[in-house]
Amino acid sequence: MGQEKRKEKMIYLDNAATTKPYQSAVEILTNYNLAEFYNPSSVYLPAFLIKQQIKQARNTLSQLLHCKETELTFTSGATEGNNFFLQGIVTGRESEEYIFSLGEHSSTYEVANLLKQKGSIVHFVSLKANGQVNVEELLSFLNQNTRLVSVMHVNNETGAINDIKNIVAKVKQINPKTLFHCDGVQAFGKIEVNVKDLGVDSYIISAHKIHAPKGVGAIFIKSGVFVKPLILGGGQEENRRSGTENVGGILAMVHSAEIMNKNLTDHFKKVIELNKRFVQNMSNLEGIEWNRVGEEYSPYILSMSVRGIKGEILVHSLENEVLISTGSSCSSNQKHSGNRVLQAMGFKKAQIEGNIRISFSEQTTIEEIDEASKIIGNAITKLKQKMGVK
Ligand code: PMP
Repeated sequence: MGQEKRKEKMIYLDNAATTKPYQSAVEILTNYNLAEFYNPSSVYLPAFLIKQQIKQARNTLSQLLHCKETELTFTSGATEGNNFFLQGIVTGRESEEYIFSLGEHSSTYEVANLLKQKGSIVHFVSLKANGQVNVEELLSFLNQNTRLVSVMHVNNETGAINDIKNIVAKVKQINPKTLFHCDGVQAFGKIEVNVKDLGVDSYIISAHKIHAPKGVGAIFIKSGVFVKPLILGGGQEENRRSGTENVGGILAMVHSAEIMNKNLTDHFKKVIELNKRFVQNMSNLEGIEWNRVGEEYSPYILSMSVRGIKGEILVHSLENEVLISTGSSCSSNQKHSGNRVLQAMGFKKAQIEGNIRISFSEQTTIEEIDEASKIIGNAITKLKQKMGVK
């Protein structure tokens, strides 16, 4: 369909895929690139001043995450962060075992598959019906050979929140040497994150999920944990991640992270209202299933299934007016995989096929929610009629 048919202002409800960068973050990015584009490794003063700005940004981020500056490494995003840590902690000892939740993002899950292909013992842990990892099952796999456990903080498809602090405590009680990796991409800036309190060994964030540009992220690695670098070269980031720093991206990311964290409670309250309003608006439609059980969810993500209508068809029928998604946008590149997360939660085929994900931002307005729910409701009714779904 041509651009001309698109609504002038599209309603964007796919904030788990990416968020619109703050104007001020774009200005920081642009200002660096236009005016202060120096390589921070150069020896002259203007370059040194840029290096100082990165240092300042690292300091700010360390305060937001509650860690030391030296425990942070800037990366090109969360995909790199997950790959770096998960591939970098492999020692090659034959007895080593790994435990991954089946809810993990593909950038973690595919590394798990790689480790398995290479001959390691890899255990995959199922999810409960509410989308949280099955902790009992996880603990049953744990033993003295377990090198690593990986459980994400907030699931990007369902919004389910894992009680990381509690899981880490249980894991470390059985094997204090087991490393605990946590993907915090959908959590940081949206719910309280304190890596020291959580007790994790590593924690991943991504800029573009918090109103900053794409192609930048960071990883917390606890002091004393050695991770083999994934990218070799000029030795930037204390030799942990070579490559000229994405200076503008780093500065913009930390700027947005500060805004998100400063306003975390207000944003959270607002997003709960948006989420509730959407559910309420859709409540008179038949055949809708809300893919949630209980309370442990991020209000930023709402997963629902429409009986008898494929999620993909609904998403396309809306694409000139409201932008939403079918589960994870990353797994949409992997058509063969179906929906691993919903499968691991025990969902039936029809519920999985009818799945869509609505994801909010604090910038979404109530008016947009009202209009979007009307448009989505009408689209569902029309598709049902067309397909003869009752
Ligand atoms: N982990 C999670 C939970 C995500 O939602 C995403 C983005 N879809 C990633 C990792 C990958 O992040 P990036 O785009 O920064 O590589």
